[in-house]
Amino acid sequence: MAVGHNMANESNPHLQQIWEVRARLTCVTGCHVGGGRDSLEIGGIDNPVIRHPLTQLPYLPGSSLKGKFRSLLEAADGKGQNGQPCSCAMPTCRVCRYFGPHKKPHHTLKPTRFLFRDAFLTEDAEQALVQAAETTGLFYVEEKYENIINRNTHVAEHPRVQERVPAGTTFDFVLGVRVYYGDDEKLMRQTIAEMVQLVARDAIGGGGSRGSGQVRLDNLQILTVWPEAQG
Ligand SMILES: [Zn+2]
Repeated sequence: MAVGHNMANESNPHLQQIWEVRARLTCVTGCHVGGGRDSLEIGGIDNPVIRHPLTQLPYLPGSSLKGKFRSLLEAADGKGQNGQPCSCAMPTCRVCRYFGPHKKPHHTLKPTRFLFRDAFLTEDAEQALVQAAETTGLFYVEEKYENIINRNTHVAEHPRVQERVPAGTTFDFVLGVRVYYGDDEKLMRQTIAEMVQLVARDAIGGGGSRGSGQVRLDNLQILTVWPEAQG
């Protein structure tokens, strides 16, 4: 499904409202959201974070955020089978209704409700990282070295270098929500609040079991952005 298109399409008679969920996402510890090379590579070199191609500043891709929120909701609701995301497409399944049934193009659930935007640095965070880069020479990130200890010899092998966005860095979190006629608005708000609580107790990106990726979402607000008159 083409997420992000036809969002405010008035020709769709079933769309009732579009909400914008906004929050400030703070990295409580260093965060590593990278290009999927989080497997343990002996002698692996840089494990970079994802950066904007023009500014080189780090950001949190909507796809990574969506994956994390989805898997947390699946865990909370006991959904998903054999390590695969839920594809049941049942009207009672909020994972499938809000996130879309996994790899199931034909269903009756109407389009995906949750649209996770790329989360970019707040202005303050951008300034701080640019300033820090001038003194540290590091490119808006920290480098975390993780020693790998050989279990047989107890000797440290090649250290693994992982880039992380430093603790304290803040991003603008934005989640678009399509509300269709017949949707349970109360349940949608409740689900959003629940996911925000869950993510703060879990981790985003790689290395979550080794101290990375702890985040906090503050200043949560849900605005009705369409139709505009309802503000
Ligand atoms: Zn499902």
